[in-house]
Amino acid sequence: MTSSTNRLELLLERRDDALARGDLRRALELDDDLEDLGMHGDDRATCHGCQVWGDHAHELLTGRRITLAEYEQQRRARTARRR
Ligand SMILES: [Zn+2]
Repeated sequence: MTSSTNRLELLLERRDDALARGDLRRALELDDDLEDLGMHGDDRATCHGCQVWGDHAHELLTGRRITLAEYEQQRRARTARRR
């Protein structure tokens, strides 16, 4: 295992801790660090744009705040159109 993988796992653990404690400020910091290390944005527990918990998504083109269910619906629609 590379040292950057170790670091990523350590930060992930701390992020999940912050999440469990409800420490939004700390979770945001750790999510930012994790993304810098290469974590996919979908794996964030917080929303960088809104500086709140990641209990929502943003529309791809407009950036409008939408529910996770709406996001999933739009993603499926895009996939279906490509077939
Ligand atoms: Zn947001």
